[in-house]
Amino acid sequence: MNYIELVRVYLELEKTTKKLEKTDIIANFLKHVSGSEIKDVIYLLEGRVFPEYDERKIGMSSRLILKVISSSSGDSINDVEKLWKETGDLGKVAEQLMNKRKQMTLAKKELTVKKVIENIRKLSQFTGHGTVDKKINLISELLNSSGQEESRFIVATILEELRVGVSTGLIRDALAKAFDADVENVERAYNLTTDYGEVAELLKENGIKALEKISLKPGTPVKSMLAVLSESVEEAFEALGKPTQFEYKLDGFRVQISKDKDIKVFTRNLEDVTKQFPDIVKFVKENVKAKNFILDGEAVAYDKKTKKYLPFQTISQRIKRKYDIYEMVKKFPIELNLFDVVYSNGRNLINEPLLERRKVLEGITKQVPGKIILTKKLVTDDEKKAIKFFEESLNAGNEGVMIKNIDSTYVAGRYVNGWMKLKNILEPLDLVIVKAEYGEGKRAKWLSSFTISCKSGNELLEVGKVGTGIKEKGEGLTYNEMTKLLKPLIMHEDDKEVIVKPKIIIEVGYEEIQKSPSYSSGYALRFPRYLRRRDPEKSLNEINTIKDIEKIYNSQRAKKL
Ligand code: AMP
Repeated sequence: MNYIELVRVYLELEKTTKKLEKTDIIANFLKHVSGSEIKDVIYLLEGRVFPEYDERKIGMSSRLILKVISSSSGDSINDVEKLWKETGDLGKVAEQLMNKRKQMTLAKKELTVKKVIENIRKLSQFTGHGTVDKKINLISELLNSSGQEESRFIVATILEELRVGVSTGLIRDALAKAFDADVENVERAYNLTTDYGEVAELLKENGIKALEKISLKPGTPVKSMLAVLSESVEEAFEALGKPTQFEYKLDGFRVQISKDKDIKVFTRNLEDVTKQFPDIVKFVKENVKAKNFILDGEAVAYDKKTKKYLPFQTISQRIKRKYDIYEMVKKFPIELNLFDVVYSNGRNLINEPLLERRKVLEGITKQVPGKIILTKKLVTDDEKKAIKFFEESLNAGNEGVMIKNIDSTYVAGRYVNGWMKLKNILEPLDLVIVKAEYGEGKRAKWLSSFTISCKSGNELLEVGKVGTGIKEKGEGLTYNEMTKLLKPLIMHEDDKEVIVKPKIIIEVGYEEIQKSPSYSSGYALRFPRYLRRRDPEKSLNEINTIKDIEKIYNSQRAKKL
């Protein structure tokens, strides 16, 4: 297929913002794409050249593209740059300049979809010194045989800035329409493969029958099963039936560990983080005895001396880290908690009930505390025992508990009533506003971020900044009203920040209290949000004290149970 045919689709998609129209445009087009090309076409429609979970990156800078446009069009770097500044879009720059050149050269090779995607994929193979010329050649080859519109979309795809409004949801709907399939079934197939390119290929080859046969493939990630929020043990029992499985809810990060030939580690967003976590690979290699598998779990930062868990922030530094990996492994050790298995020894377990999956997991895993363990669990129908387990989990420093229906299958990628989460719900605090900051963009005219303090004797100590919970307009307190309240109280103004008389007292909700050097109290509220004004009925003397904060910090436990 010639690339221009796809470009015509992009142009049509650009003309409408209506989802239904976009779905029709894509569906009609897909009907005519061949089985050998549909995978690539789906990727290119989504503005990518690799599947979502693939760690390879195109990795081209705007600067380098600018150079290629200049050499392909014959215009000077300065001229290209000038036009870039004017339009703010290198794709459009390519379109304009290449067009000028095209009118001079008559012969033009036909550019195929295959050629475009192949050349762009190759860009990711070259990194480091001496590779610039190779990259330039690959792109020039495309631009030299493309017309003006093709140039624009090639550049946009390379820069990963294709903006034709095609979301994964739209691809799902278009595939369902083109092949007369159920949207739900198409989505299910995607949740198992994480690849609409592959789903499309299967549909093209075998029609909707193919969707039923789609299974898991160790080595490629599956969408993670997700949980809905529960307010209490009682509510969870009602929704999930009795007995249910309670598990510690750990404050680490979700990992999916997949073994085909090699072991790979994926995050909840299906990013491949195998390189960052050689320790996970090692623990699993040594202690999980199965030829192939897909495991689900949580990696938690672990203090080897105290044998206690550390908060998520500690481990978060390891996720993006690309160098000094082994130093990071030593500095921030983790304990891997496994709680599920969806594939093992060639057996697809996704449709098995939780109890069976857990049994398989227990059968293949050798637990080594400090390295790899199975998440602590309790299967019970007794509310008292459940609450005790919840408190035990909080006392161990966890976020709360996960509550799981013992008969539920593993429903990839969906919030269903199979799993629920119950977190510690903490008493809101009454705090006073001591500083505020003007916002950005359309909030520039309002004070939109508010530093809040608690009391310590006669002193006020800061515990965080609130911005959420206040509205731009409509019901409830607006930024405009808050700005009006605070303006007469301003004592000092420094650029965007103002210091105000401590008068406006607000009730603040939050998820957790953390130690933090950023605020004078030494503590910070995690995810603070404005709930309501308290100053009409509360005085400065009555706000929460540093002692209250310390107490809550020490016993972050539930109020609602
Ligand atoms: P949340 O991020 O609050 O929506 O809670 C869901 C997350 O909790 C999951 O994505 C996991 O990363 C994490 N989690 C911690 N412990 C467990 C557990 N025992 N079962 C499932 N998820 C868990």
